[in-house]
Amino acid sequence: AKVTRLGPSPTGFVHIGTVYVATIDRDVASNSGGVYLVRVEDTDQTRLVDSAIEQFDRAFSYFGIASDEDTEHGDYGPYQQSEREQIYLSFVRELLRQDKAYLCFATKEELADITERQRATKLPTGYYGRWAIWRDADPADVQAKLDEGAPYVVRFRAPDGSDSRRVSFVDAIRGELSADDNRNDAVILKSSDQSPRLPTYHFAHAVDDHLMRVNTVIRGDEWISSVPLHLQLFEALGFEQPTYAHIAPLLKLIPGGKRKLSKRKDDEANVDWYMSVGYPAEAVSYYLKGLANGKLAELPLADALATPISLADCGVAGPLVDLDKLTDISADFIGTLDSPTVLERLKVWAREYDAEVAELLEQQADLALRALAVERDGSDNPRKDLRMWSDFRPAYGFFFSSLFELVNGPGDQRLVDLGVPVEVITAFAADLVNGYQQLDDPQEWFGQIRELAAKHGFAKNAKEYKKNPDDYPGSIREASQIVRIALTGSTRSPDMHAITQVLGADEVLRRLRPLTE
Ligand code: ATP
Ligand code: GLU
Repeated sequence: AKVTRLGPSPTGFVHIGTVYVATIDRDVASNSGGVYLVRVEDTDQTRLVDSAIEQFDRAFSYFGIASDEDTEHGDYGPYQQSEREQIYLSFVRELLRQDKAYLCFATKEELADITERQRATKLPTGYYGRWAIWRDADPADVQAKLDEGAPYVVRFRAPDGSDSRRVSFVDAIRGELSADDNRNDAVILKSSDQSPRLPTYHFAHAVDDHLMRVNTVIRGDEWISSVPLHLQLFEALGFEQPTYAHIAPLLKLIPGGKRKLSKRKDDEANVDWYMSVGYPAEAVSYYLKGLANGKLAELPLADALATPISLADCGVAGPLVDLDKLTDISADFIGTLDSPTVLERLKVWAREYDAEVAELLEQQADLALRALAVERDGSDNPRKDLRMWSDFRPAYGFFFSSLFELVNGPGDQRLVDLGVPVEVITAFAADLVNGYQQLDDPQEWFGQIRELAAKHGFAKNAKEYKKNPDDYPGSIREASQIVRIALTGSTRSPDMHAITQVLGADEVLRRLRPLTE
């Protein structure tokens, strides 16, 4: 069984790449009958953001990637590094006792000076070899510094080695990799003048992965270069080394090429963006799974979601994130839902992201349900006008009088754009209002529009109008558009008869009346 883990840092930003990697973590674990756990990596206390952990919880539960283990359901906690201080300290002490680590009192200025001198001589920068001034310090000097109360860090004593020593390891995605071995005496415990006294990520993750019996480390490929150090730490601590799988980053297409999706540059790097515009979690998960394994993108959504990703599926090249593709997937998915389900899901979204819509859906649920049912329930080809939940306002807002603005008289720009003379619009609308009948049969209902259009000189069809445009104010198409604009504010909408059935005759007349004035 594989035990996988995600080690997100609570910086106040949940990366869509983190959801992508977590999805792989979860699938690989569950497919082997194993465990997937989330461990909050907050050893960098300068980057902490208060609400960050709630942000993770919200995003992870939305996308179905919540940890299998937590303080309540797991024996290996705490699952937050800042609460594991004493655990790390005991391992640091053990390394010190074995002389695999040492105290380093080098000041910031000394370290800067070392780096400068290394750069001047074009040497690799770092704390190694003869530059590692406290590595083989006289115990008396160490004691003197301690007596003085000078702050220190604890450094790992990297195994002695020549410049050319190589290390190789197997990556489950990339096969055998080799790199220069680590020579740097990495800091494992941060400065003694800090409280809490926390280890660095490198050290903490090694201790945690061992104690939490993680055997499969899946993470972004920016960590490949740290593997040599990590292997040394596992070895020094006497831990078995895990299997590594380094995931290629999600990429974005830019003019002239592609680059990593980046939190500083791209809105769509942020999980909050997907949640706030209202992509259903299923659509995003399906899309992400398809990025990890192209074959899953060819399966229907439910089948793909039920098929776990395996590491063998993952590629070495980063996949391109295409938001148009995601949007199509999302529109198709929402199209498969019936109106009561759509309403329920819209409510959940709106409660979080659009209070006004949330209130409408609560108070006028019946109207909402009837509006959502138009060309949806029972249709072979349901409308795709909800691509994401935030489309509700533009696509369905007009059903609600509080979100609808009456047209601004017969001279309204949208009507002017139809090219029908104002006096024709006024007369046509006045006749319609006077004799309006709310009929159940769509053909009969539309018959009254047709009849009135003919009466006011509109051509029977677009073809006839096109032949002799000077003979007509427009065709039946323009006449219908006058009604459509009055009822919906737009030249595109669902079936007009169905709309009038939802609105009711009074509301239809209220919306037509401004055209007559
Ligand atoms: P920057 O804008 O500074 O490049 P970033 O977008 O790389 O930042 P980080 O805060 O460095 O974001 O990374 C947060 C987490 O998201 C890390 O675990 C990292 O592996 C993951 N991550 C970042 N970018 C991607 C990406 N393009 N694809 C997959 N995972 C990513
Ligand atoms: N805390 C690291 C990050 O945010 C996790 C690295 C790892 O998974 O080992 O990327």
